[in-house]
Amino acid sequence: MTSIEELPLRPELRGKSAYGAPQLPVAHQLNTNENPYPLPASLLADLGTALAAAAQGLNRYPDRDAVALRADLATYLTRTTGEQVTADQVWAANGSNEVIQQLLQAFAGAGRTALGFTPTYSMYPVYCTGTGTAWVEGHRRADFTLDVAAAVAQVREVRPDVVFVTSPNNPTGTAVDLDAIAALYDATEGVLVVDEAYTEFARTGTVSALSLLSGRPRLVVSRTMSKAFGMAGLRLGYLAADPAVVEAVQLVRLPYHLSSLTQAAARAALAHTDELLATVEAVKAQRDRIVAELPALGLGSVPSDANFVLFGHFADSHAAWQALLDRGVLVRDVGLPGWLRVTAGTPEETDAFLTALGDVAPDHRLGD
Ligand SMILES: *Cc1c(COP(=O)(O)O)cnc(C)c1O
Repeated sequence: MTSIEELPLRPELRGKSAYGAPQLPVAHQLNTNENPYPLPASLLADLGTALAAAAQGLNRYPDRDAVALRADLATYLTRTTGEQVTADQVWAANGSNEVIQQLLQAFAGAGRTALGFTPTYSMYPVYCTGTGTAWVEGHRRADFTLDVAAAVAQVREVRPDVVFVTSPNNPTGTAVDLDAIAALYDATEGVLVVDEAYTEFARTGTVSALSLLSGRPRLVVSRTMSKAFGMAGLRLGYLAADPAVVEAVQLVRLPYHLSSLTQAAARAALAHTDELLATVEAVKAQRDRIVAELPALGLGSVPSDANFVLFGHFADSHAAWQALLDRGVLVRDVGLPGWLRVTAGTPEETDAFLTALGDVAPDHRLGD
């Protein structure tokens, strides 16, 4: 057996382990923010047809520029946000993970810097390592909200090439308002990426950063079909930005990065948008139910615009995580002392979570 340390690995990768949330075979998997509802039967039937048709052309490379899919995504964005988005403003890849990696390949990389306001999505530093980009942790207030004046000052000082604003933020759940995004855009000469992976779950009144795109060529809004659409297994993420940004990512994307099967499946799914998003309100109701039930257990949460809740405080969050797991409920230990994150799903999942938490809270909550 060869040890990885014996290989001529890049020095910055030495000693690291592969990142990822535990994939454990437990009854209730509430740790990766998926939509638990199965795809509608009508979509399953259409997927069969669409994939069979695409399969007939599998001897050929896919459409390198995914033109038809990008037009469908532009139509979806225009219809749901009221903002006019055109296909040349949209780019798609294998999950927003790949979209963001391409953005770093185009706008960051060796000798360049990316900044995000922590705690935030734990993948950003991983993409930075992979692309040779220096990662700088931006600050938040103790309650995890963004202090806009401090954030602007930090961006001015660090002068990052890419700034990430995650709205709603993962793992804290809170959305960032448009004034803050506009102020950060003005503060940076780099590319501002607003990661809206959870935007479909936002509470009413939260407006997408798509409404800021006009006149801001360095602003990028990143979206995904992994969360609200309930298609994490498809691997389809996309961005909306100035067409020049799309040209830029086309310089670094692998040729034929998005398979014809993925493109066909995503288009079939987008034709069922309303049915797919019909579960969003039900998931939001479970999120709000979790938030409402926590105080009775002596626990609290951070206000959430997403399909998950950051809850605490625990004396030892990892011990509380293990105690929940022992009761068949897998939540996420995001490495924030005192806190854990739970995905909101079906009413039955909430029942199971609250029952397990009722057992666990007396022994594990902080300061009794
Ligand atoms: C889940 C998540 C994504 C989605 O990643 P995909 O690659 O599209 O599955 C992106 N950003 C954040 C902050 C997320 O939590």
